[in-house]
This record gives sequence, C-alpha cells and structure tokens, in this order.
Amino acid sequence: PDLFRPERANSRGWDLRHRPTLAAIEEARGAYAHHRWEAAPILAAEAEAGDTEEVRNPARPRDTVGTVTWAAPGTVAAAAEAARTWDATPEERARVLNRAADLYEANYGEIFAILHREAGKSLMDAVAELREAVDFLRYYAARTAGDPPVGTFACISPWNFPLAIFTGQISAALATGNAVLAKPAEQTPLVAWRATQLLHEAGVPRTALQLLPGAGEVGAALTAAPAVGGVAFTGSTETAQVIHRAMAENLAPGAPLIAETGGLNAMIVDSTALPEQAVAAIVESAFQSAGQRCSALRCLYVQEDIAEDFLEMLTGAMDALRIGKPWDLTTDVGPVIDAEAKANIAGYIDAASEAGRVVKTCDTPDQGHFVAPTLIRVKGIADLEREIFGPVLHVATFKADQIDRVIDAVNATGYGLTFGLMTRIDDRVQHVSERIEAGNVYVNRNQIGAIVGSQPFGGEGLSGTGPKAGGPTYLERFRAHPADAPSG
Ligand code: GLU
Repeated sequence: PDLFRPERANSRGWDLRHRPTLAAIEEARGAYAHHRWEAAPILAAEAEAGDTEEVRNPARPRDTVGTVTWAAPGTVAAAAEAARTWDATPEERARVLNRAADLYEANYGEIFAILHREAGKSLMDAVAELREAVDFLRYYAARTAGDPPVGTFACISPWNFPLAIFTGQISAALATGNAVLAKPAEQTPLVAWRATQLLHEAGVPRTALQLLPGAGEVGAALTAAPAVGGVAFTGSTETAQVIHRAMAENLAPGAPLIAETGGLNAMIVDSTALPEQAVAAIVESAFQSAGQRCSALRCLYVQEDIAEDFLEMLTGAMDALRIGKPWDLTTDVGPVIDAEAKANIAGYIDAASEAGRVVKTCDTPDQGHFVAPTLIRVKGIADLEREIFGPVLHVATFKADQIDRVIDAVNATGYGLTFGLMTRIDDRVQHVSERIEAGNVYVNRNQIGAIVGSQPFGGEGLSGTGPKAGGPTYLERFRAHPADAPSG
C-alpha cells in the first residue's frame, strides 16, 4: 500500500500567527465560553441510565463544563446485542467518514471550547488534536476497501487525546465495516459525546456506533462481552494487561487486541547538536500538553562535555514557559487532567526535591490542577521506576564513548515508544537508529506530534502491540482475513 495517496491530503489547520484567523477562532469558541454540555449514552437499544455527574474544568474547578450520565454496566449487553456491522459499500463508508471530517472542522469553535474546558488543552494542543482527528477520518476513509470486518469492536480511549485517539480508533473500526461500542475516558466524556453526534449526523448508523460513557466497570464489561470480536485500547500498560487477560477468558480465541500503551522515552543530545534547536525540541517534547502524552520525553541524556552550558540554556527556556489557563492565547502549559493526577505528580516531585535532585522548577497559578514543569537529576533511565504522566523531565549525562551504554539502558526499560537524537554526525544517526528499540525515532526535532500518514505512531515491547495508528497496516487488524483462517 502507498503511504501518500494523491486523493487525500492532511488538514490545513489554523495559522495561529495570522490575526484574522485568531479573531475567527476567538469568535467561534467564544459562543461556548459558558456553555454546559449534557452528555449521555448514545445507544441503539433501550437501557436504564446510570448516575449523572458534573464535569469540571481542570484549570478552574468551579467552572462546570457540563454533566454526564453514565452508562450503567448492564448497558453493555443491550448495546452489544443491538450492534450491527456497517453493511454499506466501501465507497459509502468513505463518503460518510469524509463528511464527518468536514463536520468536525465546521464545528471547530465548539470543539476547541470543549477541549479547553474539559481536557485543559491549550489552543495549540486543541488545534493539533482536531487536525489529527480529521486526518484519521480522511486517512482511513481512503482505505475502506478490503477484507470483511471482524464484527463488533470495543474502542476504549484515553483522556489525553479525547478527540484524536477516540476518533482514530472508531474511524478505523468503522472504515472496515465493524460495529463499534465506544467507551471514552471517564474524565472526558463531553467531547466524545459531541463527536459521536457528528459521526451520526454524517451518516454512521446508530447500530454501527454506540457511545457508552463510563468508568472502569464499563470497560471491564466490554472486554468480557462474548459478542465483542476485538478491542482497540489506548491507555496504561497495566490496564492493557488486564484487558488482555479478560479477552483470553471471555472472547473468541484470536480476537484482536490493538493496544497503545505507556513509554519511558529518552533523547540523546551529543556535543555536535545545535543547542538552540535541541532546547526548543526538549521543551516541547517534555512540557507541551503538560507532559501528558505517551510520546513525551521523560529522560534526557546530555553529553558531559556540554552539559553545564546546555542545562543553563534549558533551565532558561523553562523560565520563559507561560503556565496558565488553556483558553489564554499566550499559554504554553495548561493544567493536568484532575486533582488525583496533580497529587500523584506533585508527590513524586516532592520526593525528588527532598532527595535534593530537583534542578529546576517553575511557578504555577494557585487555583486549578497545575503542576510546575520540573527538571530532575538522575544517573540514568534505570532510576525512573514508572512513567510519570506530567511535566517532569529527568536529566542524566554521558561520556563521549558511552552512547552504546545509554542505548542499552534505554532498551532495558522494556518500553519502546519514542526516541529522540540530536546530533550532526551522520554515522551516529545510522548507528543509533539501528540499535534503539522504539516505534518512533526522531532525529534533530521534537519527539511528539506524529502526523497521520507520514509518521505512523506506535511502539513495541511494553509500549504496545502495533500496528501503528495512522499508517498503512493499521486497518488490517480490524478486518477478518478469510484467506488466513485455518481450514478443515
Ligand atoms: N500520537 C501522539 C504523539 O505523537 C501521542 C499519543 C498518546 O499520547 O497516546 O505525540
């Protein structure tokens, strides 16, 4: 299959340096500054409703963004029974998914407002997220022809990309004709609910796409429902392991699990790197989206010879970060997702501080779930016991002849999602990219923000099962392959 099909182009996006564009965004999202959304399950069957709860703004917890009515766990069985594979022609499925992409774009003001207020996304993040969602829809729409669907897919998505990954999983399953039971993260039901409405408005039948907002019990019920033929999951490695076991016990043998999970991502900066370029890439990779990306940089290795000057530049760049409300145009770093996340990350930083390992931290607003971008000294990546899902960067140094030891240490974590290399030595690029075990390797740039179609995204080892999202082989796991089935 070809990566770059002429009939499909990635979205054009919004140029945030262009004043009339910014004014249009201000106006479009302004209408939703105080709106309250009311999300609920969207089903093709009758089912009893669960409890209703308020959804709060992580940057301003007194701002009620809306309410969500949860799917009661019993809803899963009713929804699974009502689910039907989408028996439209591949051309019709493509038309509907492309129409959904157009509807997402047409509703950008409302979508940005929900992403700011429900998920704490800065404008830059919100723009990137909407673009990625639209790109997934159009990319998979261009690839609808092929083997038949698996059947019914459970799509379980995370709060850190509550629109892009939610849409990516669903559009892949729908493009191939599967029925979808979608469970968005419990922190971000509103944007998922609005997106589901737009997908239905575009022409996806209700029996092919049902929305079940809920917490872990709904996810557990989905992965134990025998009518479910496959699962797409993005979230923690631990949850993926639980899902894998539940599927083995309850679903048909060989039911596909497509999991995108955590990472302990490293970057090497050697003494030939361009320091200004490296600092900018590090700040983006570690702190954009408040570090809440599984692709984010967690452990930076700087060559000892340049470390002192380099770290001075890096901490200077951290001083320039603007931490504040996602809605503000000048904000670089918004809040983390909720009070629990803040307490976890802050506790980790406090422990590092008591151990005398904090090199640099920043000021944050008092109200809201903000965590200061922080730099922590370590001996190496082996000192990181777990993925800290926030704006925390660890830094270690290495000697000129120790690159291979660094690579061994990074590989030894067992994760393998993203990796960054900053160097001007061509042979080193070759050598390191051959030896490093990571799904996405980036050279002389940041290591977040994979682009649909040109940088398929996904890891190996503890970071995921593959295939890569937004790449030419992703849809194959959503199809039944009659030719491969064992015969006799
Ligand atoms: N695809 C995103 C990126 O390249 C990360 C996805 C995630 O955090 O789950 O930054």
